[in-house]
Amino acid sequence: MNWRCQPLPIPAGSEVSWLPFGNGRSYGDVCLNREGLLLDTKPLDRFISFDPKRGILRCESGVLLDDILAVTVPHGWFPPVVPGTRFVTMGGAIANDIHGKNHHSAGTFGCHLRRFELARSDGRRLRCSRSENQELFNATIGGLGLTGLIVWAEISLKRINNQVMDVEVIRFANLGDFFEISEYSDLEYEYTVAWLDSMARGKKFGRGHFVRGNHSACCTKPIAAPKRRLSIPVELPFSLVNRTTARIFNSLYYKKQGRVRSTALVHYESFFFPLDSILHWNRIYGSQGFLQYQCLLPPDSRGKDALEELLTKGAQQGLVSFLGVLKVFGNKLSPGLLSFPRPGITLALDICIDGDNTFRLLDDFDSIVQTVGGAVYPCKDARMSGTAFRNYYPQFAELERMRDPKINSSFWRRISGGENGQ
Ligand SMILES: Cc1cc2nc3c(=O)[nH]c(=O)nc-3n(C[C@H](O)[C@H](O)[C@H](O)COP(=O)(O)OP(=O)(O)OC[C@H]3O[C@@H](n4cnc5c(N)ncnc54)[C@H](O)[C@@H]3O)c2cc1C
Repeated sequence: MNWRCQPLPIPAGSEVSWLPFGNGRSYGDVCLNREGLLLDTKPLDRFISFDPKRGILRCESGVLLDDILAVTVPHGWFPPVVPGTRFVTMGGAIANDIHGKNHHSAGTFGCHLRRFELARSDGRRLRCSRSENQELFNATIGGLGLTGLIVWAEISLKRINNQVMDVEVIRFANLGDFFEISEYSDLEYEYTVAWLDSMARGKKFGRGHFVRGNHSACCTKPIAAPKRRLSIPVELPFSLVNRTTARIFNSLYYKKQGRVRSTALVHYESFFFPLDSILHWNRIYGSQGFLQYQCLLPPDSRGKDALEELLTKGAQQGLVSFLGVLKVFGNKLSPGLLSFPRPGITLALDICIDGDNTFRLLDDFDSIVQTVGGAVYPCKDARMSGTAFRNYYPQFAELERMRDPKINSSFWRRISGGENGQ
């Protein structure tokens, strides 16, 4: 679609389903529609208005966060929430109601959304906000693209002094230490997250690095953006990630920080988007690929026990993972009907695919997460069952009621009992 005022370019009378497509940075099938059409939103890449006094930005839905940063940072404004890559579109950020390292202080992207326009297959154009078409506003935030095409959106930005982040990294020895550091850090630091050595066992179990940061004070000297250095040049027929390389990498990474604490001033790109500097990083997993499993567990002792159980089960069953991320989400609730973040502990693991073993292990993970009333993030999912999804998201029937009848996705068919459904 090229122009925001043009009608939806879907063949008239077509019974084939369609789905808005952003920049394809979702890990699973929420952005795919194997039996139908994808509507590419990237040509909708125009800024509509920017108020540099109040920090309010309106743009079309295909504008990338990368472009927003380029325009707003020089004026002292930053997106309210950013994920681990800056190559996501405005529409994709809303439809997955993305979260970042500041969830405990800012909530999700949807918490900062003022209004948007939604185009439905029946030709209607609806303005949605907290006071206009509120039901559709809530359903579209975290609504996985199913309620209509977000044509443009307006968000509130956050004031910053410069491009520099004031960062501290603390090595922790176990999960107990992680929770303690997280609790006191969340009071003083706007951004917190931990890297977890998910393959460590015995005395090393639950060790990692806690990373916390704030936007720097106004007198800090500017720092240049990092250069894009590395590229994985070709798709590999085999994976560079196996139990041995992952264990060695995790161990070296844990030790890379000699001191228990280290501080640094860094450019915001290094702090927020480290993977963006390695082009085609996903190729290290070879042609088998990888899955990301991100779950949410309750913030109490049941959640902590479940976290330990997940990691122990993973270690026993030979889980191979380079990247484990741990964070405690805050209490700020999103308006999104189906948003993933809720108060609790979130664990994300990049998992190398080792045939059926991996899928069996993740089904076992799902049983643990369901037992404690947790959830799995749809945007990172490619395999959960419909039963698991409906347990995680009992409000799914309300979204189904508000779904645009012509829109569908591979994910939605899978979890609602159609394609490979249960
Ligand atoms: C390296 C990396 C790190 C990441 N880190 C995080 C993280 O920290 N936190 C987090 O929450 N996510 C994270 N993600 C996931 C990413 O933020 C989300 O998948 C994001 O939604 C992708 O946006 P996209 O524009 O690529 O959308 P796509 O992946 O193309 O689509 C996502 C969904 O949005 C819908 N959609 C897209 N455009 C529109 C539109 N205009 N109108 C209606 N619906 C639309 C699609 O139908 C689909 O359901 C990460 C991804 C990567 C690759």
